[in-house]
Amino acid sequence: MKAISVLGSTGSIGTQTLQLACEFPDRFKVVALTAGNNLDLLLEQILRHAPEAVALADGERVAELRQRLAALDPAHQPARLPELLGGLDGLCAVAAWPSADLVVTGIVGCAGLLPTLAAIRAGKDLALANKETLIAAGPVVLPELAQSGSRLLPADSEHSAIFQCLQGTPWADTARLSTGVPTPGLRRIQLTASGGAFRDWPAAELARATVADATSHPNWSMGRKITVDSASLMNKGLEVIEAHYLFGLDYDHIEIVIHPQSIIHSMVELADSSVLAQLGWPDMKLPLLYCLSWPGRLETPWRRLDLTQVGQLSFRAPEPAKYPCMALAYAAGRAGGTMPAVMNAANEQAVALFLEEQVHFLDIPRLIERVCDRHRADLTARPSLDDVLAIDAWARQAVHEAAAQLSARTPAALPA
Ligand code: NDP
Repeated sequence: MKAISVLGSTGSIGTQTLQLACEFPDRFKVVALTAGNNLDLLLEQILRHAPEAVALADGERVAELRQRLAALDPAHQPARLPELLGGLDGLCAVAAWPSADLVVTGIVGCAGLLPTLAAIRAGKDLALANKETLIAAGPVVLPELAQSGSRLLPADSEHSAIFQCLQGTPWADTARLSTGVPTPGLRRIQLTASGGAFRDWPAAELARATVADATSHPNWSMGRKITVDSASLMNKGLEVIEAHYLFGLDYDHIEIVIHPQSIIHSMVELADSSVLAQLGWPDMKLPLLYCLSWPGRLETPWRRLDLTQVGQLSFRAPEPAKYPCMALAYAAGRAGGTMPAVMNAANEQAVALFLEEQVHFLDIPRLIERVCDRHRADLTARPSLDDVLAIDAWARQAVHEAAAQLSARTPAALPA
C-alpha cells in the first residue's frame, strides 16, 4: 500500500489523482490533502478519503472548515478528523507529512514552489505536475534533489512519455533523473503539442480571441491557466524547459511538433537513430497512474487504444509567428539563471490578467517579452531560493506596469 499526499487536491490533477485512489483502494491510501479555497469539494474529499492532515492555502478559512466538519451528522463524520492547517506553513507541513511515500504536486503556478521544496527536503518521492516549480527554480531544485535523494517522477504526459520510453534503455537508472547531466544515448526529444484551442485558427484571427475561446481545449480537460498556456503554446515552451531540467538535453535537441490527435505523447531519438514513442488516449489518469505505480504497472479496465478508430496521426511544425510564446520560452531557457523564473512569473500574471479580461490574448507574449527584456541586464546565473522568490515578485509587478503602459498606448488592444 503506497501512502500519497495530494497538493492541489481540488484541481484537475488533484481530482484525477483521487479518482485513481478510489479505483485502486488496495494500492493507494490518501494521507494528506491541500487546497486553495474550494471548501465544498475539499470537505467531500475529507469524507471520502479520511486523510491524516489537510491544509488550506487560504488560512483564514481553516476555522470555517473546522466548523463545517464539526457540524456534520456523526453518522457522516470521517473515520478520523484530520489535523487542519492553514497558509503557506500549513501547505509545507502537509507536503512533508511523515507518513507519505509519494507527493503529487497539483498546485498551479509558482505557488507550488515552497511546498514542493518542503516535500523534497523531507526526502519524499514526487509526482511532478506543477512544472512551474522546476521552471522557476531549476537551479535551486536540482541540487536539493541530489542532496535529499527524492525522485522526481514526471506526471506531465509528455515527460511521462519520455520517461516511459527511456525505461527500455540502459538509462533506466532513474537516479539520473533531474541531475542536469545529459542522459546517455538520448539524442533528441520531440515534444508533441495538440496546438491548443487556436490550432486551426489563422494567425490573423487571434486578434478576436476571447477568454471563452482560449479556455476550450480540443483534446484535454485541464485547469484554466494551463488551458490558456496550451492555446498560446507557452505550455509547450514551459515543457521544453522542464525537459531540459529533467533529462539534461540542451535546447537545440528538444523540439516541438504539432500533433493534433494527441495520441503520441512524445518521442525520443536514441544514439542509433531509433525513435521511441509512447501512445495512448489523451487522458491524464494514465501518466498519473504511472507515477503512482512506477516502476511497476497496474492492470486497468480502461478503454484500449484502437488506432483503426483514430485513423490518422498527423504532424506539422508549429508556426513561430502564430505562437510567439514558444520563442520566448526557448530564449528564456537558453539564457538560464533567473530568466526562466521571470518568464514564468510574467506568464502567470499575464494569463491571470487575460482571464480577468484586463488584457487581450495577444498581449500575453507582449507583456512577457517586455518584462524579460527589462530583466536581461540583472540576470543572476546561479540564483538562491531567495533570489528566485524576489525575482518572481518583481516580474509580477513588472507585468502590471507593462500592462498599464500597453492599455494607455493601445486601448484598441483590449477586448471590447
Ligand atoms: P487547477 O487550476 O485545476 O487546480 C489548481 C489547484 O491548486 C487547486 O487545487 C487549487 O485550489 C490550488 N491552488 C490554486 N492556487 C493556490 C495557491 N496560491 N496555493 C495553494 N494552492 C493553490 O490546475 P491543474 O490541475 O490544471 O494544474 C495543476 C498543475 O499541474 C499546473 O502546474 C499545471 O501546469 C500542471 N499540469 C496540469 C495538467 C492537467 O491536465 N490539468 C497536465 C499537466 C500538468 P482551489 O481550487 O481549492 O482554489
